[in-house]
Amino acid sequence: MAKTILGNEKGFYETFYRKPGDNENTHYCPGCGHGIIHKLIAEAIEDFDIADRTIFVSPVGCSVFAYYYFAAGNIQAAHGRAPAIATAVKRANPEAIVISYQGDGDLAAIGGNNILQAANRGEPITVFFVNNAIYGMTGGQMAPTSLPGMKTTTTPYGRSQENEGPPMKVAELLSQLDGPTLVQRTAVWDNKSIAKTRIAIRNAIKCQMEGKGFSLIEMLSACPSGWKVDTTDQYDWMQKNMAPYFPLGVFKDLRKEREPWFRKKGDPGKEAILKELDLKREEPTAFPAELSDSKYSNPSIKLAGFGGQGILSAGAILANAGMEQGMHSSWIPSYGPEMRGGTAYCFVNLSEHEIGSPTVSHPDVLLAFNRPSMEKFVAELKPGALLIYDSTIIDVKPTREDIEIIAVPATEIADELGSTRMANTVMLGAYIAHTGILSSEAIEQSLPFTLKRKNLIEANRKALARGMEIGP
Ligand code: SF4
Repeated sequence: MAKTILGNEKGFYETFYRKPGDNENTHYCPGCGHGIIHKLIAEAIEDFDIADRTIFVSPVGCSVFAYYYFAAGNIQAAHGRAPAIATAVKRANPEAIVISYQGDGDLAAIGGNNILQAANRGEPITVFFVNNAIYGMTGGQMAPTSLPGMKTTTTPYGRSQENEGPPMKVAELLSQLDGPTLVQRTAVWDNKSIAKTRIAIRNAIKCQMEGKGFSLIEMLSACPSGWKVDTTDQYDWMQKNMAPYFPLGVFKDLRKEREPWFRKKGDPGKEAILKELDLKREEPTAFPAELSDSKYSNPSIKLAGFGGQGILSAGAILANAGMEQGMHSSWIPSYGPEMRGGTAYCFVNLSEHEIGSPTVSHPDVLLAFNRPSMEKFVAELKPGALLIYDSTIIDVKPTREDIEIIAVPATEIADELGSTRMANTVMLGAYIAHTGILSSEAIEQSLPFTLKRKNLIEANRKALARGMEIGP
C-alpha cells in the first residue's frame, strides 16, 4: 500500500524500519494526505539531487515518524520548535537544504510564535505546512485551523465564533511580514491541485537553493480519521468545507526581486569571538587531579534542599571548580516556582572524560540540605555512594547501611561564622576534604562566580575551611 502511494523515489529509504516485521508500510491512515505530500517532496529531493545535503526537521504530530521515510538527514523536534531547530541547523550548515515539515497543531498552536519569528527573520529555510484542520495524532482535538462549526473532541458542539474564534489563516498571516520570500497555499484533493502543489514544493526548495530566503507552502490535506469522514468522500469534503475558508493561491512571491544571499560558513573561532565581545578569558588553572584510581573520581552529584539555601550556587561552584581543575563538568538546576522555600536541587557531573548526559538518576554523592530532600533522594544513591547531610537541620539519621554517611552541622557552623546562608559552603568544604576530588584553591577561585557581594568571599573562604576540618 505505502509503496504504491510513496513509490520508491531516492528521497525515500528502500525499507521503512519503523516496526519489526513491517518495513513496507507507513504509519499513516488510509486516505491521509501526508503520503501524497511526502512523495512530492521526495521526488523533488531526488530530481534536485540534494538528498546528501537535505536535513529534514519533523514535528510532533502525525508526521513525527517522517525520519523513517526520508533518506536524508533527519531531526525530530520538540512540539512546535521545528523552525527553531531548522534555524540552528541552517546557520550551522549554510550549504544544507533545511526543510521544516509541520502540521497545524504543531505550527499554528504551540509553535505559533516559533514560526512567526522564523518567518519574520526571513530565515533561509523551507517550511511545508500541512493543514488538515484538526489535531490528528493526539485524537482529533480542535486546531487553530479547525473550521467554524467543526465538531472535534474539544469542540463537541462545533467550533464557534463566540468560544474559539475563527480559523487561523497562516499563509495570509505570514505573508504580511517583511521576512518571507514565498508564501503560498495549495491543496492535495485532485490531480490538478496535486500537480500545482508539486510545483509549489519545488519552487520553495529552489528558493532556498538559490539563496532567496524563507518560504512556506501551506497544503490543505485530508485527515479522514480526524474528520470521521469516509475516504471516498474526503476530497469532496475538503473542497466543500475547507476551500471557502482557505483560498488557494500565492500570497507573496519576491523570488524575482530578492538578491541571492548565503550565510558565510564557518565558526569564526574562539579567539575571534572573544575579541569581538571584548572578553578576556583566563586559561583554566591546572590543579593536580590525581584521582583516576580514587573511588570518589568522576562523581555524579546531586545537591538538594529548599530554595534560598544556596543549593544551585553550591552546585555551580562545584562545576566551575571542576573546570578550573581541568575536568569536564556539567550543572543542571531544577527548582520550583517559589522564590523562597520551594524545592531546589541540581545535578553536577565532574569527570576526566567527556560527559554523555548531564542528568543524574543514581548519584554517587548526595549533599542533602534538608530532611525532605534527604528522604526523597537517599534511595536513589548507588550502593557504596556518599551521603553528606546537614545535621543541624536534619534531625533523623539515614537508615541505609550500604552507603557512606557523613553528618555535618553545616548550619550551626555557618551561624557561628555570622550567616546561615554559608551552610552550603561548609558542606562543600566537607565534601572536598573527604574525597579530595577538588582542591580548596579551585573552590575559592570559583566563589566570585556566584557570590554577587564581594565582601562575602572572605567569609565563605572561612566557611570552606571550617567544612574541610570536618570532612576527613
Ligand atoms: S490521523 Fe489524520 S493526519 Fe494523522 S495519519 Fe490519520 S489521516 Fe493522517
